[in-house]
Amino acid sequence: MEIINKLGQKISLAEWQELYNLPAGSKQIGKFFSIGEHSIYDEGFLAAPLIMVLDKYRELKGKPVVINSMYRTQRHQDNLNAAGYRTATTSPHVAGMAADVDTTSERDTYDSVSLLVKAAKQLGIKIRLGYHAYLADGNTFIHVDVCPEYYAPGKPYYGQDHPTQWERAIVW
Ligand SMILES: [Zn+2]
Repeated sequence: MEIINKLGQKISLAEWQELYNLPAGSKQIGKFFSIGEHSIYDEGFLAAPLIMVLDKYRELKGKPVVINSMYRTQRHQDNLNAAGYRTATTSPHVAGMAADVDTTSERDTYDSVSLLVKAAKQLGIKIRLGYHAYLADGNTFIHVDVCPEYYAPGKPYYGQDHPTQWERAIVW
């Protein structure tokens, strides 16, 4: 597992743990999240601001949070697309920018969306939130990503090939 710092550079988990005051040598990627938990794997990379938003969200929520999906390999993404899931062809999950946060009901989805917005605002981190289409399908989870922190004009990955929707904070 590598972490993408705010400059867009990949750093080791050990370096991240030191920067973010996590126990050295542990499996922790965040204050409340560790490798080995559901959908948090050893392979891949995750954006630091995403971890910070998830930690703050968990703190505000005051109880354990389940993540349905975080980093995905392109192969995994291709399989989801082929299976007909409502996923983006170019996915922020493959870029290490996204997490799907599990919720337990429609009410919990709305409450959790408010908490995610609050968490991002407190941290000054721009996020994109998706949940309307999933709710309409009868699914309860929220897609959150920090793409604007890397792909907006003036940000480190602006010059890389990316969908223009990744540049702005939105809720859909
Ligand atoms: Zn997602």
